[in-house]
Amino acid sequence: EPQVEPDPSKKTLVILGTGWGSISLLKRLDTENYNVVVISPRNYFLFTPLLPSCTTGTVEHRSIMEPVRTILRQKKGRVTFYEAEASSIDPERKVVRIFDTSEIKGSTTETEVPYDMLVIGVGAENATFGIPGVREHSCFLKEIGDAQKIRKRIMDCVETAMFKDQSPEEIDRLLHMVVVGGGPTGVEFAGELQDFFQEDIKKLVPEIADRFRVTLIEALPNVLPMFSRQLIEYTERSFKEEKINIHTKTVVKKVNEKSVEAEVTRPDGTKETIVFPYGLLVWATGNAVRPVVRDLMSKIPAQKNSRRGLAVNEYLVVQGTRDIWAIGDCAVAGYAPTAQVAAQEGTFLARLFNNMAKTEALEEKIRHLSSSLNLEPGNSAEISQEIAELERKLRRIKDVKPFQYSHQGSLAYIGSEKAVADITWFNGNVAAAGSLTFLFWRSAYVSMCFSMRNKLLVINDWLKSKVFGRDLSRE
Ligand code: FAD
Ligand code: NAD
Repeated sequence: EPQVEPDPSKKTLVILGTGWGSISLLKRLDTENYNVVVISPRNYFLFTPLLPSCTTGTVEHRSIMEPVRTILRQKKGRVTFYEAEASSIDPERKVVRIFDTSEIKGSTTETEVPYDMLVIGVGAENATFGIPGVREHSCFLKEIGDAQKIRKRIMDCVETAMFKDQSPEEIDRLLHMVVVGGGPTGVEFAGELQDFFQEDIKKLVPEIADRFRVTLIEALPNVLPMFSRQLIEYTERSFKEEKINIHTKTVVKKVNEKSVEAEVTRPDGTKETIVFPYGLLVWATGNAVRPVVRDLMSKIPAQKNSRRGLAVNEYLVVQGTRDIWAIGDCAVAGYAPTAQVAAQEGTFLARLFNNMAKTEALEEKIRHLSSSLNLEPGNSAEISQEIAELERKLRRIKDVKPFQYSHQGSLAYIGSEKAVADITWFNGNVAAAGSLTFLFWRSAYVSMCFSMRNKLLVINDWLKSKVFGRDLSRE
């Protein structure tokens, strides 16, 4: 049967997105309690922490993708998946408008999906702050396609720099890799790129050994603002040794096809514009609100003052709505937009929804017993006792504590087999950096990979790139 009607005795739970938040929810949700519908333009889960490693081939992209269909097959009951993007949500009529964004289209490309309960886990899009030229000329680093594009361009820059009779200035431009944004995405990418150059490109294309440069541009006075002071200093020192140029207090104002223009604030407070010619530009300046979320926010008066996403209450209910929850990067719950937060929020909602279903089942049972109380007066003592027990159970289940985030720590790879870590340990903080931390980073990330298949593929990729070097083919 290609289309099965939803079970009318169950509520329809629609989940938007297949990222960290939504997949964590699905993983722990007792799906047999609801008609579950998952909608996302991406039919896989992406393990984002290892995405920077895909830009250089340290890890192959398919090793960090897990097909949604594999995940859904393991669930009980029927879970429907539509590969589509939600374009708008109507909280009055309780429907989501969706459309097919993929290349192949059928005769139906747009339709509506009704919901009783809706979870929004659509993540965020790349912030550009309206800076001219960013969308046209730079690469982002958020999706698999972005990493593939970067990988291709790095080698294109190298091969074009080697083109016969290329001028020295043009060689320098082509081999200048500029990263904008000194958050963890920019820092991890810069580290991976420098590794690629040091460990592989330099050996195979020795002619460019002294010309390849990586520059990281950050608007604030330092990189990695969420890490502790000593780890920031460690990272900056390590980058200096690795010959990654860091330009802090430098704000990119304009992006041209072959150069970026940035305003630097000098120690005496004066401002100056510098132009950085580049071959590859990677833009990693954080998150912006997706259109579908902005559209919903504009329909809800209670969201008027929210800027960074959907304001939610302590149960992750979107403020000013009923039956709509938001998790992850699109929700504003007072936490950083990280995978760690999104995953915990998803898990919380799974528990909440499992409880809601149990509550309803218990309430139904109590109703049934109460009515039989009148019909069977002889058994009334027993029935009353049973009811009292169920009511106690119900109270226990209904007493769901609000969502509370538990921070496990921050980890980032900074290149040359070194990592930095701010770890929460027995209520205290431990800051660690270096090669041991790198091994910790690797083991932590492997253990977090979605499936055993992903874990083995990632380990295999690491071994392969260590033993044979990364692949320089520009595919
Ligand atoms: P996402 O994981 O982005 O998922 C959003 C989902 O919604 C996707 O499936 C998307 O296709 C789908 N979607 C988009 N638009 C629509 C629509 N209109 N309708 C329906 N579906 C839609 N965090 C950490 O804690 N640790 C790390 O090491 C780390 N490393 C990172 C490295 C990189 C390179 C990046 C980019 C991020 C990293 N993060 C890390 C941050 C982390 O990835 C995000 O915070 C996390 O992905 C947020 O989860 P989410 O579920 O909100 O969104
Ligand atoms: P971010 O928001 O953390 O950092 C973006 C940086 O870009 C900021 O420091 C900002 O000052 C700078 N910036 C903005 N505009 C600029 C401009 N015009 N010129 C120069 N600099 C500019 O973004 P991110 O690194 O993409 O991270 C996004 C989220 O994902 C964060 O919450 C982060 O913690 C999380 N993340 C975590 C990890 C990790 O834990 N290893 C890795 C990647 C991302």
